[in-house]
Amino acid sequence: MRVVADRDVCMSAGMCVMTADGFFDQDDSGVVLIASEEVPDEMRARVRLAVGLCPSGALQTLP
Ligand code: SF4
Repeated sequence: MRVVADRDVCMSAGMCVMTADGFFDQDDSGVVLIASEEVPDEMRARVRLAVGLCPSGALQTLP
C-alpha cells in the first residue's frame, strides 16, 4: 500500500500527524510531509484512519 499527499490541498490541520505520527510529518507551515510513499505494514491501520480523517481530502491511498 502506498499513500500520496497533495500539498496544495492540505489545510495544515495536523490530523494525519496526530493519527499516524512517525509516518506523516508537517513542515514549518504545517503542510503535510510524507516520509515514504510505501506504507510499512505496521503503520497501515493508522495510515488508513488518517486518510479517512483528513478534513481536506489531501491524502489518497494507492494499491
Ligand atoms: S490531515 Fe490532511 S489537511 Fe491535515 S495536515 Fe494532514 S494532509 Fe494536511
